[in-house]
Amino acid sequence: KIGAAGDKLGINLFVVGGFVRDLLLYRKVDDMDIVVEGDGISFAKSFALMCKGRCNSHKKFGTAVVVLPDGFKVDVASARREYYKFPAALPTVEMSSIKLDMFRRDFTINTMAIQLNQEKFGTLIDFFGAQRDLKDKTIRTIHNLSFVEDPTRVFRAIKFANRFDFTIGKLTSNLIQNAVRVDFFKNLSGLRVFSELRQILEEDDPIPAIKTLETYGLERVIHPYLAFDNQTVVLLEEVKKALAWHDLLFLDTPYLRWSIYFMVMIRLCSPKIVQEIADRLKFSPTHQRIILNDRIKAEQRLEILEANPPKSNSRLHSILKTFRTELILYMMACAKKDETRKALSLFYTKLRDIKVLIRGEHLITLGVRPGPEFKRIMSSVLKARLDHQVATLENEIDFAKG
Ligand code: ATP
Repeated sequence: KIGAAGDKLGINLFVVGGFVRDLLLYRKVDDMDIVVEGDGISFAKSFALMCKGRCNSHKKFGTAVVVLPDGFKVDVASARREYYKFPAALPTVEMSSIKLDMFRRDFTINTMAIQLNQEKFGTLIDFFGAQRDLKDKTIRTIHNLSFVEDPTRVFRAIKFANRFDFTIGKLTSNLIQNAVRVDFFKNLSGLRVFSELRQILEEDDPIPAIKTLETYGLERVIHPYLAFDNQTVVLLEEVKKALAWHDLLFLDTPYLRWSIYFMVMIRLCSPKIVQEIADRLKFSPTHQRIILNDRIKAEQRLEILEANPPKSNSRLHSILKTFRTELILYMMACAKKDETRKALSLFYTKLRDIKVLIRGEHLITLGVRPGPEFKRIMSSVLKARLDHQVATLENEIDFAKG
């Protein structure tokens, strides 16, 4: 259908980039990038009409997103010269629009296209040796000025190498070393650094990538004082275990995975430096609260937990109740004792969601006036419930009377 929509408008269209790469690697693909040699927005509108999808377009960039009825997302871009900021390394030879579009991309493995027009449907286009590099399991830039053009690609190289278990090509690796030496990153916005770093830390296993970042000295791009010690990798491994434990039990509960690895990465920094990092990376207020304030509180509570293991569920609950998932998992990773990890697990799996059955109206019937007394009784009923002193609503009402 999509090819027919292109044919109707008389334009060439291609599926490109990550979709083609993942197809050739037999990996799961979730959305699709389409490049058309012509007006992307007209194409997207006509395609959306044909398949009863929704279309949102951005006139300024000549791009559009079509969401199909089953939720599948198709991003559409125009391969037209007026949309391009010309690459520093653009050769003077003429290029077709699709070739130019591929030339602007980051690594060879992302430069394949498959034509979708009905007559040429399925033709694989590979201008820059992508198939060879997929076979060699190598990340290579398309040209030597790639990191000058966009230094965030350094982080992307590490992300892809880690995700596919590829090596970074010799020349590309030298270009990265050069980018670090000459500090291509000094004018890079913190927001872009954060976006790339976050993607790395959200990968299934980010630890090899974090090690590679350190090998190249890229942690200093985040902050010149950011440094790791020999405990860092040990703790990162503990984070991985804690997250695996969590995801096994609570598969669909969303949380900020990246933040837990990140907290380990910055744990040797003083609060002042962490504040500077948060400012540079343009953290949102929520991120700031987690990374700065809550992390420090969590570290203090963890010390209390390890020094004086709580003897009752209610005590454990009162120590941990204010912490969100990310902080509980951070504490689990940093805990020195098994007993502490067990306590954290008990809190997270069993105690966290325990609620009392008694309601305000029950207390009113007992003659209690709404106000601070209400709160006090409710929290002592919760304490009793956590410590198995009450089981039913009647028990709770009796307890409240007492
Ligand atoms: P992922 O599976 O992580 O989404 P992806 O390859 O689809 O991988 P995106 O970040 O969605 O990655 O980017 C889509 C395409 O845009 C990439 O395949 C790549 O060709 C191109 N691209 C993205 N960022 C850059 C960049 N900084 N420089 C050049 N090309 C880029």
